[in-house]
Amino acid sequence: MRVYHLPSRVEGLLFDMDMTLYRHEDYYKSQIKNQVILLAQEEGIPVHELEDRLNRWKADWSATHDGHQPSFGNTLLGALGVSIERSVDLRRRAIRPEDYLSSDALLAETLETLSRRFRLVLVTNNPADIAERTLAVLGVGRFFPQIIGLDEAGESKPSPKAFRLALKALAAAPEVVVSVGDRYAVDLEVPLSWGMGGVLVETMEDVYSLPGVFPEVR
Ligand SMILES: [Mg+2]
Repeated sequence: MRVYHLPSRVEGLLFDMDMTLYRHEDYYKSQIKNQVILLAQEEGIPVHELEDRLNRWKADWSATHDGHQPSFGNTLLGALGVSIERSVDLRRRAIRPEDYLSSDALLAETLETLSRRFRLVLVTNNPADIAERTLAVLGVGRFFPQIIGLDEAGESKPSPKAFRLALKALAAAPEVVVSVGDRYAVDLEVPLSWGMGGVLVETMEDVYSLPGVFPEVR
């Protein structure tokens, strides 16, 4: 875990979903792979050729952005001009959380503890309906009454739009909100630049130990 900044008073937590609320490399890879396969079919080009184009664009972007990785949605947009609407549609057809994930009692316990002190909002580059299905499989849907998905934001994180909508949903100023996610450039960079707190989680143990990070909860 890496705590970049913690405000002296916290009212709300803004959570990323994928690879933050669960760790499952095969599922995460399937999200990307299935979208690439669908897109290659629709564009009439071989899968490996499409992968090469995406990888080249990602490498160029990364080289000019301190080695950070772009989100997949922004890679499709930048490399191939795939609109966010089309990304939403691709994701709805490609992503199957039910095939990979299962209920996580420790996660539920953690979120229960946090939700007693803070308002929670989920901000994801997946469409809201995929997020609802994912949270349902993990058994933690009740902790996120508000979800800002790619379909609502219309732009992929780290676009500021999703974070702005999340602050509005929390009815909180950035200075009393902490963003929690697994990717610095996607989940934390913009929030930190606005004066929000930022916590990078690298394992599920990091997530389970989040309550200990906040003096309000300890
Ligand atoms: Mg993530």
